[in-house]
Amino acid sequence: MVVRQRIAIDMDEVTADALSRHLELYNREFNMTLTVEHLQGKKITEAVIPDHRERVEAYPREVGFFKNLPVMPHSQEVIQALMQRYDVYITTAAMEYPTSFTDKFEWLRDHFPFIPWTNIVFCGDKSIIAADYLLDDTVRHFKQFRGEGIIFTAPHNINEQGYRRVHNWLEVRELFLA
Ligand SMILES: [Mg+2]
Repeated sequence: MVVRQRIAIDMDEVTADALSRHLELYNREFNMTLTVEHLQGKKITEAVIPDHRERVEAYPREVGFFKNLPVMPHSQEVIQALMQRYDVYITTAAMEYPTSFTDKFEWLRDHFPFIPWTNIVFCGDKSIIAADYLLDDTVRHFKQFRGEGIIFTAPHNINEQGYRRVHNWLEVRELFLA
């Protein structure tokens, strides 16, 4: 029997563009013009003025933040292709934002209907995930992970070293299916 390798895939900043929602809410509330160019090597909470930080940290805890997020370009077609050769799981640290559960689950059903619910994992510490690869923008999840962590480029992680990196979903396809 051939054992298929498992790929665990993050949601925010990998399949779902939560950063654009974050910027939109921040710019609207404080009448600012913050863009991804200001976020090179920084999280949004590190880029805003200190007085605004608490509000900005609260956005993802609000119901609806994760609703209708844009889909990262090419993620749908590439994940569908990966599923031909690998066991693919969506692994999101949703426990950080309990109000996100329904929005996240519905978002997956709407945009990734080909991923069965059995392959969706809402978790906290991702080191519990037993997969061969973890595709994620947050390197903290790689520290205790037993497989290989692969960084998906996001503005905040551009200076992270020590892991294989992909910049977009076409590079994911190249890495796993070439
Ligand atoms: Mg993420």
